[in-house]
Amino acid sequence: MFAFWFNIPLWQRVIAALILGVILGLWWGPDAEQIKWIGSFFIASIKMLVVPLIFFSLVSGVAAIGDIRKLGKVGGRAMILFIITGQIAVWLGLAIGTLLKPGAGIDPDKIPSKGDIPPPTDLAWTERIIALVPQSPVEVMANVDVLPLIVFALLIGIGILMAKEEGEPVAKIFDSGAIVMQKVTMIVMELTPFGVFALMAWVAGTLGTDALIALAKLVGLNYLGCLLIIIVMYSCIIKFVAKIPPIDFFRGITDAIAVSYSTASSNATLPVTLRCAQRNLGVSKSVSSFVISLGATINMNGTAMYLGLATLFGAQVFGVDLTWADYFTISILATLAAIGAAGIPGAGIIMMALVFPQVGVPLETIALVAGVDRIMDMMRTTTNVSGDAAVAVTVASMTGELDKEELISADDV
Ligand code: ASP
Repeated sequence: MFAFWFNIPLWQRVIAALILGVILGLWWGPDAEQIKWIGSFFIASIKMLVVPLIFFSLVSGVAAIGDIRKLGKVGGRAMILFIITGQIAVWLGLAIGTLLKPGAGIDPDKIPSKGDIPPPTDLAWTERIIALVPQSPVEVMANVDVLPLIVFALLIGIGILMAKEEGEPVAKIFDSGAIVMQKVTMIVMELTPFGVFALMAWVAGTLGTDALIALAKLVGLNYLGCLLIIIVMYSCIIKFVAKIPPIDFFRGITDAIAVSYSTASSNATLPVTLRCAQRNLGVSKSVSSFVISLGATINMNGTAMYLGLATLFGAQVFGVDLTWADYFTISILATLAAIGAAGIPGAGIIMMALVFPQVGVPLETIALVAGVDRIMDMMRTTTNVSGDAAVAVTVASMTGELDKEELISADDV
């Protein structure tokens, strides 16, 4: 029985749960609220991961910059490309969300519990700055106060870099902590089919077809944003900066695209991405192993785009007005979240807890979108992984580490 269950790939179990949940919800109506607790259990388990996952991943991500410096021009160029593409991605998500309004169709009165709408906006800017500093790191962890936690994690990462060799043992603890937290997340992700089933039944039963249409729109826009990033942004970088034909690039990474889409994990795809970059694209071993392994943890353009889009979705559903200052806050937080997100399934949804409260979007949004997150996660991961390969090829081409003969032989892969 157990073997049968675990033999079905997780994403197939999740999609089946999603469809069954919608059917049950439409049939059962508002009473489907009775099983929402299963979804709440799933979301509580995700929230449990927020603090330790962000803390360990962010510190180990910042500490990894030590290797970047060792790699000089390769590291610098990779970092610049990661940041520029990440920023374009978030703003694309914000633009799509603002123009096409995925969350506009839901009647807010139908939402049974509005969650805790955090009121951050009435603080003066001086108070906001003071609130960035954790008076007690333990207290901010206990309160899941993510912004000061990030400041603390960034400072520890910088401290590790400054301590050089003497900081290495601490860096190792954080690296290993990050890996352990990824494993814990994998355990929690096994709850996904049950959580998705209950949440979709609840959404379909209590909010009706309007909500389903809004979610379908969100999923569609997530795919649109990801495809624009891959087809337009990566193609331009490949064509104009790396100066190779985009079609050869995409042919070369077909395996990585397939594996990332089905596993929803940049980390699990890492060996395949490396092989594609080295064998099919002709990126040297040193550049590919450095850029792609680092990229799998910190370069997540699909996730960054999605966080922008999902924040607007939540704001539209719950009628929260966002100002330009909020947009800038989202762009910075989504970039940090993409660095702090581990390359594992569901990392993006955990990072919502980082972005939403800072701009006054209720965390209840997570319950709304969690049911369809997996389908979006698959596409975000493909975007993330293709971005790692695109940056690796571009940096290799800029630094003379690209063997174009290998690239041409991509035909016979
Ligand atoms: N699953 C994604 C990845 O591994 C991260 C995310 O959830 O957005 O790249």
